[in-house]
Amino acid sequence: MLGPGRTIETEALVLKRTPYADADWIVTLFTFSLGKVSALAPRARRSKHRFVGGLEAFHNLTVQLRSTRSEDLLQVTDGSITRARHTLVLSLLAMQIAGKALNWLRQAIPPRIVEPRAWSLVQSWLDIIDAHPPIDPPQADARLAEFGLRFLTVLGWSLEMSKCVRCGKPCPPRSSAYINPSQGGVVCRDCGGTGQLVSSSLRKNMEQLSTFGTGELFAEHSDLALSVVERTLESHAGID
Ligand SMILES: [Zn+2]
Repeated sequence: MLGPGRTIETEALVLKRTPYADADWIVTLFTFSLGKVSALAPRARRSKHRFVGGLEAFHNLTVQLRSTRSEDLLQVTDGSITRARHTLVLSLLAMQIAGKALNWLRQAIPPRIVEPRAWSLVQSWLDIIDAHPPIDPPQADARLAEFGLRFLTVLGWSLEMSKCVRCGKPCPPRSSAYINPSQGGVVCRDCGGTGQLVSSSLRKNMEQLSTFGTGELFAEHSDLALSVVERTLESHAGID
């Protein structure tokens, strides 16, 4: 943790910016060294030169953060873009899904806890979106759902997809199953079979992404996978 009057330099992503007073921003940052923090960026709205690039989302910044008298708020004393994602910010679809992913981060991770797994997940995912922006909305949803499934695992909220969460009965590998996000995973037909009906191939695909972080979702499955992710986040963190 950052002691009184101390300054630290760290890489950061901007999760949210809120105008404050005449010319300041209050920024929520996801930082490599301190986890999620809030910080005041004085005069950042008045001068683009003060923070090179203007504390924009989606790029990696290197920021200097100083502790203040308020325990909850740091101060940004310097900041500049050190890794720009130029292609991402030219694609509306890429910006939409990256914005959603950063919003999930902002709402789901607790403040001031270093999260190296979440940091490396979001970094590698943003790099992929920057290198290959989605070409249509279903593909965009598929990329976002892939991030979401891996993020749920980092948070410890991954869904049980191979057996019923109520009675423990294993799911036959080739059958479809009901996944109930608020119950934590598959609910078999004997136990009521509530939730969203997911085909065996999608279930396998989703399980692989959440367990090993590998694989890709097909665009035609993206709706359903994304809705499972969103409902899981909603039931754990009230995110909508
Ligand atoms: Zn059951």
